[in-house]
Amino acid sequence: MDLAPSTSDEALRTEVRSWLHAHLPWEYGVGLPPRFDDLADEVAFGRRWQAELAGGGWVGVTWPERYGGRGLGAAANFIVQEELARARAPELVGRIGVNLAGPTLLVHGTDQQKDELLPAIRAADRLWCQLFSEPDAGSDLASVRTAARRADGGFVVTGRKVWTSYAQFADWGLCLARTDPDAPRHRGLSMLIVDMHGPGVEVRPLVQLTGEAEFNEVVLDETFVPDSGVVGEPGRGWQVAGSTLSHERGVNPRQLVIHLQHLDELLRLARDAGAFDDDRLAARLAQAYVEVRIFQLHNWRSLSRLEHGREPGPEGSILKLYWSEMSKRLHVLALDILGAAAPLWRDAAHNPGGGSWQRAWLYYQAASIFAGTNEIQRNVVGERVLGLPREPAREEAGSARR
Ligand SMILES: Cc1cc2nc3c(=O)[nH]c(=O)nc-3n(C[C@H](O)[C@H](O)[C@H](O)COP(=O)(O)OP(=O)(O)OC[C@H]3O[C@@H](n4cnc5c(N)ncnc54)[C@H](O)[C@@H]3O)c2cc1C
Repeated sequence: MDLAPSTSDEALRTEVRSWLHAHLPWEYGVGLPPRFDDLADEVAFGRRWQAELAGGGWVGVTWPERYGGRGLGAAANFIVQEELARARAPELVGRIGVNLAGPTLLVHGTDQQKDELLPAIRAADRLWCQLFSEPDAGSDLASVRTAARRADGGFVVTGRKVWTSYAQFADWGLCLARTDPDAPRHRGLSMLIVDMHGPGVEVRPLVQLTGEAEFNEVVLDETFVPDSGVVGEPGRGWQVAGSTLSHERGVNPRQLVIHLQHLDELLRLARDAGAFDDDRLAARLAQAYVEVRIFQLHNWRSLSRLEHGREPGPEGSILKLYWSEMSKRLHVLALDILGAAAPLWRDAAHNPGGGSWQRAWLYYQAASIFAGTNEIQRNVVGERVLGLPREPAREEAGSARR
């Protein structure tokens, strides 16, 4: 692996960094004020920011030029994401469209779907959600029960989805549904595009540990999806879903830079609190430093794979497993350093960080669940990287979520 950046990599980094210096709505490297009081305000702000970013050509840089991208490779995308995170730019509000739905349409969509849907994704004119998980189908996604019945000119969809992030703001939903109840469970599925503003779609926000309601339950009641809204061939939804989920693995430049920043802040917090005088805390701080560095090396190894034209592969599970556990350990350490202030919340006095550490600790509990739980990642690593015997209960290759 050659870790030295090429001249074109360096030129790209300089270009995106100077663009950000000129366009960031807040001071470079400082980021948004701590929070918006209302998620809807945050989303409205996020749409404006993403539109500006797309105007500069910094959204979907790996997409073909025909669809507004720059046709660049994995390393270039990594650099852009790193620079965005370093500038503390907010995460893309349309990330489900940009990172999951868009790449899925690029591979499996018809020309009409690509021409009609892709341009609106980059500029956040249209937001997407991922309608995969159900109350009894999370890790075991092939158990999806939402039923899509054949009708004149399309399908009529009825079922219940859950944990659907940003569904309350979404215009379109990428929905895995069962179109053939008689086929073996992996073969009777299709991928459908649901109009989230259409009749028969009800979105019910669910409040998370942080007190915010980012995800939702979505009830589909006789919702019509025309034939033009089927992605890939009917009955091949499992393969299309696999391609969507592969984009949740692999490199994670954003979390890498965020955790480098968390580490900086943690060391500052520790200095201010005198934590280095406590041998046990000092040893854990050194461990946190080492772990963030190891995460960086895992990222670079995966990036090297992608640059050589290979898929993230099952090794992508190692990266997801590693960062989610590293993050949890780092945030527990932050609370231990906060000591008596750990149970305090926003607006409390004598609370270093103003509640941001407590909020982050709560938020990162989800990291070992979303995009495939850690148990599932361990199964993947055990079976597909280490070659251990398969789990007896799993009937078919790839039966679990990822
Ligand atoms: C913040 C957040 C956002 C999310 N956003 C979305 C979204 O936008 N769209 C979407 O479709 N989904 C979303 N999800 C859902 C997420 O993908 C699922 O929660 C996840 O796949 C786990 O499924 P489950 O919750 O049904 O748990 P289950 O699959 O029921 O698992 C319960 C427990 O059993 C364990 N387990 C299950 N199977 C095995 C096995 N074979 N071997 C060992 N242990 C096992 C699990 O690890 C877990 O600990 C989101 C989740 C979170 C937390």
